[in-house]
Amino acid sequence: MSLNSTPSGERIHIGFFGKRNAGKSSLVNAVTGQRLAIVSDVAGTTTDPVTKAMELLPLGPVVIIDTPGIDDEGELGKLRVEKSYQALAKTDIAVVAADGNFGLTQAELELIERLKTKKIPYIIAYTKCDISDPSAKNENEICVSAKTGEGIERLKEMIAAAKSEEKEAHIIGDKLDPGDMVVLVVPIDKAAPKGRLILPQQQTIRDILDSHAMCVVTQDDKLTQTLESLNVKPKFVICDSQVFGKVSRDTPDDIDLTSFSILFANYKGNLRLAVEGVKALDTLCNNDEVLIAEGCTHHRQCGDIGTVKLPALIKRFTGKDPQFTWTSGTEFRDDLTKYKLVIHCGGCMLNEKEMQSRLQAAQAQGVPITNYGIAIAYMNGILKRSLSPFPQLMEMV
Ligand code: SF4
Repeated sequence: MSLNSTPSGERIHIGFFGKRNAGKSSLVNAVTGQRLAIVSDVAGTTTDPVTKAMELLPLGPVVIIDTPGIDDEGELGKLRVEKSYQALAKTDIAVVAADGNFGLTQAELELIERLKTKKIPYIIAYTKCDISDPSAKNENEICVSAKTGEGIERLKEMIAAAKSEEKEAHIIGDKLDPGDMVVLVVPIDKAAPKGRLILPQQQTIRDILDSHAMCVVTQDDKLTQTLESLNVKPKFVICDSQVFGKVSRDTPDDIDLTSFSILFANYKGNLRLAVEGVKALDTLCNNDEVLIAEGCTHHRQCGDIGTVKLPALIKRFTGKDPQFTWTSGTEFRDDLTKYKLVIHCGGCMLNEKEMQSRLQAAQAQGVPITNYGIAIAYMNGILKRSLSPFPQLMEMV
């Protein structure tokens, strides 16, 4: 993906699901206008979910996920079915491809039940309508033919309509008025990628500009000078979690201060859950297991926060010696029950759906979950202040 393209976490993820030989892969190719999927008459050709980021009109930037058949059999087949269902964790909109010759069978009905439980909007596409006579009775159903192109444009419009029902989310823009000033504090240390800002910083700047507010970007050692040079009082100072302590000391009390991590916990996650979760640090004992989870393997972006700085800070704060485990990318654990606490990164490379699935998994298993920025702010005694854009949560600390 080029540097100018929309990050994967911000793209709408469209998952195509269906039984083997339901014509799902042909449908993916017809919708995308590309040979994304391998099409074959041999059932079960798609063995792993295939993802591709692309521009898809009239939708804009999307990620297409083509999944293996949901009726696969045998040991390997079961694993493939599991992978298909795992893809639901990141699916914003699902297209259920059902062979028009057979209509909805038990496998599709079970999938639809899961989609309903996970509140994922879905469209049922009855395939092969050039050789069958299916009837689409409901408004989320359509008959399509990858061979003749019938129904394909309408299906894209239906996906676009499902997308537009999603709410417009903001990082900070909804708390700004046009003309407001925001100061962003971005330390350029050895963990910072060469020649550019990291994704959460770029996205925050864009969100501020979208709100017709203004921003100044500075480093932590220039913050005092920056504030003195402004002739308007900033509405917010937003900093990297790592320099929270110093930035808090240098920011006058009457200016609201927060961090990129806290804003992203709210943007993609569940800030209340994360604030509740951080209190598990108070009861951590020797040998308690702590999972530190990162959303990608781009370690240059998050440096050694997860592997070095956070564990050291936790040991110092608690005076205990917990056991740490790390995961990164897609390898988030299913069974979290042995952990006393999960600390997740900001998840800038994950889409909102995937971040929510991780939070819900921890919540369902009764395991406290928080994020880097909140944990660091809490241990530095400045969480309350850093929640100032969210006054309803300040009393929890
Ligand atoms: S580790 Fe997390 S916060 Fe850091 S770049 Fe990856 S997804 Fe983003």
